[in-house]
Amino acid sequence: MAQSNNVLVEVKDVKKEFVTSKSLLGKPQKIVHAVDNVNLKIYEGETIGVVGESGCGKSTLGRTILQLITPTEGQILYKGEDITGLRKEEMRQMRRKMQLIFQDPYASLNPRMTVLELIKAPLDAYKIGTEKERIQKVKEIMELVGMPENMMNRYPHEFSGGQRQRIVIARALVLDPEFVVCDEPVSALDVSVRAQVLNLIQDLKKTKKLTYLFISHDLSVVKYVSDRIAVMYLGKIVEVATKDDLYNHPQHPYTKALLSAIPIPDVDKKMKREILAGDVPSPLNPPKGCYFNTRCKYASDICKQKCPLLHDIGNGHLVACHLCDK
Ligand code: SF4
Repeated sequence: MAQSNNVLVEVKDVKKEFVTSKSLLGKPQKIVHAVDNVNLKIYEGETIGVVGESGCGKSTLGRTILQLITPTEGQILYKGEDITGLRKEEMRQMRRKMQLIFQDPYASLNPRMTVLELIKAPLDAYKIGTEKERIQKVKEIMELVGMPENMMNRYPHEFSGGQRQRIVIARALVLDPEFVVCDEPVSALDVSVRAQVLNLIQDLKKTKKLTYLFISHDLSVVKYVSDRIAVMYLGKIVEVATKDDLYNHPQHPYTKALLSAIPIPDVDKKMKREILAGDVPSPLNPPKGCYFNTRCKYASDICKQKCPLLHDIGNGHLVACHLCDK
C-alpha cells in the first residue's frame, strides 16, 4: 500500500521521563529525559524510519507509542482517538492493531514453547476462532513468512537466528495488525541473513497493508526500508524528511555527521567524513539551548540559550536548528 495522506498515528508533545533516584522525602532527584517533547505524524501505509545513536530515546519512543510505557506528558492519537487515557480492556483491544517486532529473537521466544504454541498464543489470548481455525491461521502466517508448516512442532533452539526472527514476525502479525513498530529487527542477526529478513518485512508490508515505525541505529538499513526518516538526538527529533531529501539534502549538522559516516561503495564518490567531537551528553542533564550545541561546529551564542523548534523548511522537510530559522 502506498503512503496516504491519512494520519494513522500522531505523537503530540510527548515526554517520557524516568526517575532514577529520589530524596529521603520521595522527591525525584535524578530524572532521565528519554523522550523530550516529541511531535510526529505517521501516515497510513508508510514506513517511517527512526534513527540515532544508542541511548537517543528511539526505542522508548516506539514503546511509548504502543503504550507499553506510559508517557509522562503528551498524547498518542490513533486514527484521531487519544489512546493515552484508555482503560485496560480498551487498550488491550487496541493492541491487536498495534504490534512490536523485537530486536532479539533469542530473548523474545519462550524456549519451552513450540512454534505452533508461540504463534498461536496471541490468538488464544484474544479467543479468536476455534482451535482448528487458530491452527489454520498459524499455518497461513507461517507460509507468509517463509516457514514450512512441518516445522510447527519444533522448538526455537532448533532454528537459526533468521528463522527465529521469522517466528517473531509471524507472532506479531498473526492478529492482523495495522501498525507495527520494528525495533532494530535485524541488528542481532548475521549480516548474511539481514537482507532476507528486511525483504520479508518489506513484502509483508505490501501483502498485509501495514504501516511501520522502523527503529535502527544503522542508517543503511533505515535507508533501505523507509519512505521518510526521523533523526533523533538526546530524546528529541531534530530532522524529518523523505528518504531522498534526507540523504541528498540533509540540513541538521547532526544528520550531516551521521550520513558522512556511512561507507560509500563507489570508490569515485568521496564524502568528507565529519567526526563528531565529544560524547553524547547525559540525558540526566541535557545542555541548555540546543541539545547538540556541545558537539556542533556551527554552535553560536543563541544555540547555547534557545532550544530550536522543529519547523517545516518546505515540502514537509522538518528541521530543528537555528541555522535553518528564517
Ligand atoms: Fe548546531 Fe546551533 Fe543548529 Fe544546534 S541550533 S545544530 S548548535 S547550529
